[in-house]
Amino acid sequence: MIKDNELKVFISSRDSICDECKENLGSKAWIFLSRDKGALCLACADLDHLLFLPSGNAALTLRSRKYSKLSAVVLKWSRARKRYERQGILVEEEALEKAENECLKDADIRERRRLREAERREETDKEYVQQFAARIRELYPGCPAGKENEIAGHACQKYSGRVGRCAAAKDLSGEAVELAVRAHVRHALTNYDELLFSGIDRHEARSLVREKVDEIMCCWRSQSYSAKPGFPLSHGPDEIGASTLSGRGEGMTRDANNLLRYGITG
Ligand SMILES: [Zn+2]
Repeated sequence: MIKDNELKVFISSRDSICDECKENLGSKAWIFLSRDKGALCLACADLDHLLFLPSGNAALTLRSRKYSKLSAVVLKWSRARKRYERQGILVEEEALEKAENECLKDADIRERRRLREAERREETDKEYVQQFAARIRELYPGCPAGKENEIAGHACQKYSGRVGRCAAAKDLSGEAVELAVRAHVRHALTNYDELLFSGIDRHEARSLVREKVDEIMCCWRSQSYSAKPGFPLSHGPDEIGASTLSGRGEGMTRDANNLLRYGITG
C-alpha cells in the first residue's frame, strides 16, 4: 500500500533536471516532487543521507521504517502493469542497523525454538520406543531380556521421517508389534539375510524361513521360553536401534500533473 502521508521518491524513466540545483540527473534519476519547488534531486530534497532498502524483507522493512525518523517510499512506474510499484524504502542508516540487529536476534530465537522442538520430538520418540518395547514384552513374555528394546528401536527408526510417523507411533496394536517382532526374528535368528544375499527371491526366502520364525515367535509368546535351552537367547550386541509490497497506484491523482510534466510516468 502506498500511503498518502508517505514521502515518495520516484525513479524517473526520462532525462530529468533538478529544479533547484539545475543538475542534469540523467534518465534513471531518483526524484522527489516538491509542491513548491518541483522535481528535486535527493540532495536538494535533503534525502540523500538515507539508505535504500530494497523490498523483499518485510520484517526488516517494517522495523527500519519504525526506527527511522525520516523515511520515503521509492516508486517506479510499471509500464506493463500501468501502476506505480514499490521498489523499496529510503531509511536512516542507524534505523536500518537497529532493524538488522533485531532481525538477527529473531533468527537466534528461531534457531533455539527449532532445537527445542527437535528435543521434544526426540523425547516423543523415546517414549514411543519405550511404549512399543513394553507392548512387545507384554505380548511376547518369552522374548529374551533386552530384545524388546532393540526391536522397538528398529521399528521406530523405520517410521521416523515418514508422514505416517505419528500414526505409526500410536499404533501399538498386536499386528504392528507382531510385524516388528517377526521382522527381527527373520533377520536376526534365521539365515534369511544369507538367503537374500545368495540371490534367492525374498518371497521364496521368506517361505523358507517361515517355519523357523513361527516356531520362535510361538515360544516367545509363551512365558516359559527364556527358560528353555536350545534357542539362541541373544544375537549380536543389543543395540537399542540408534536410537512488496508491490505498491498499488493509489492516491496518486494529486501529483498526476507533476508526474506527467516530469516524464516520470514513462
Ligand atoms: Zn538538486
